[in-house]
Amino acid sequence: MARFLDRASETMIARYAIRKVLKLGVDEDSINIRDWHRITRFVKEKGNSIVKLKKGMYYCGFCGKGPFTRRGIYLHLLRVHLDEVLDAILE
Ligand SMILES: [Zn+2]
Repeated sequence: MARFLDRASETMIARYAIRKVLKLGVDEDSINIRDWHRITRFVKEKGNSIVKLKKGMYYCGFCGKGPFTRRGIYLHLLRVHLDEVLDAILE
């Protein structure tokens, strides 16, 4: 199911969205306006459900794993939950 152009684009979109949720820096030019709108809505509506912050540590909203550092949860979401993040963006 090619929801976006290709796997490389999907990875880029998921990475951008996860970075937005975690308030990590993003390259605003890396995303087109349509995806930007989708991701902005995703961050607003679902950002708090994909990452849980407790006592300064991060826990995964999909599988409950943690605690992670911000960098750790970023890598975890990207490696383990890429497809779930994409589904959530497109829902
Ligand atoms: Zn997880």
